[in-house]
Amino acid sequence: MRFITEFRSSKLASGLLSQIRLRSRIPARLMEFCGGHTVAIFKHGIRQMLPSTLEMVSGPGCPVCVTANADIDRAIALSQIPGVIITTFGDMLKIPGSRSSLQESKASGADVRMVYSTMDAVKIASENTDKSIVFLGIGFETTAPTVAASVIQAKERGIDNYYVLSLNKLCPPVIRAILDSGEVRLNGLVCPGHVSAIIGSYPWEVIAREYRIPCVISGFEPVDILQCVSMLVDQIEQGEAKVEIAYRRGVRPEGNPEAIRLMEKVFEPAPARWRGMGELPASGLKLRKEYRQFDAELAFDIATEPAQEPVGCICGEILRGTKVPRDCPLFAGICTPEHPVGPCMVSSEGSCSAHYLYGGNLAG
Ligand code: SF4
Repeated sequence: MRFITEFRSSKLASGLLSQIRLRSRIPARLMEFCGGHTVAIFKHGIRQMLPSTLEMVSGPGCPVCVTANADIDRAIALSQIPGVIITTFGDMLKIPGSRSSLQESKASGADVRMVYSTMDAVKIASENTDKSIVFLGIGFETTAPTVAASVIQAKERGIDNYYVLSLNKLCPPVIRAILDSGEVRLNGLVCPGHVSAIIGSYPWEVIAREYRIPCVISGFEPVDILQCVSMLVDQIEQGEAKVEIAYRRGVRPEGNPEAIRLMEKVFEPAPARWRGMGELPASGLKLRKEYRQFDAELAFDIATEPAQEPVGCICGEILRGTKVPRDCPLFAGICTPEHPVGPCMVSSEGSCSAHYLYGGNLAG
């Protein structure tokens, strides 16, 4: 299958659904890690079409949602330092911190700019040599190589007013943390396609081996996801737990060696704060000492008040897979995409937003 229409073919989707319904006998709970998968699953009504033996829960795979309030507060504090220009990707602007958002900071006079690539941020730095430009490095392994490339470029070009606040996070450690917590029983993992395009399939093998959980890497079209679920069902029914790639057009077992090289050249693993999960060891990325001159943590004195969560918001539990948006008393009443209370309703990949837009009245 080479063309996008084939991955949306109702005939192929029906065939896969028939296979899944025929083969699925053992009750199983599958987690889709990635926010992109959550949106696709809801948009195409996949949960409702699966047999009653299969339950799907959403994982913590929205990079904006998992950013802890304390880190958003630090980004806002940075934006208020005179002479600092904050550059970031879109959704970050709207995410509420403990007391305000970057958007509100911008409205009160801070220079906060949305960029489409890290190289745009480097360009802003080269054009504003009297200012300090801070890029907010959010995202998983998918975006970390591009942040790394921007730092390398800044160094090569002698740009000394470019900084990164590294909030980038790593996916396999958080999956382990969720499984180690024992809060949610899982029988299969829909592994993230874009992250796996960078890291490959090998890092998931430890999950399959140590936790005896089948892992299948999925693409983002409905046929991709159904094929992934079908492969997970086959493993579950056969008592297997291995890593398979359903997204062959995007993922190779070894990933993207050049992107991994860039990431490892600039960053090293470090503890990171996750919303709802606290600080997890080796789950984030910090700049290596050779690139410390670009580290916003070291370059600025970032002072913040203690972080606070939005009152009544259960985003943390939703991100851990222990609750669903409908469990939140604010869902679809006080909290809507027009008036979001928490990040899971703000972000375009957030669970609450996906439930509200495509399946708010459905269980799960
Ligand atoms: S519905 Fe709103 S308040 Fe409730 S968990 Fe989701 S984002 Fe938070």
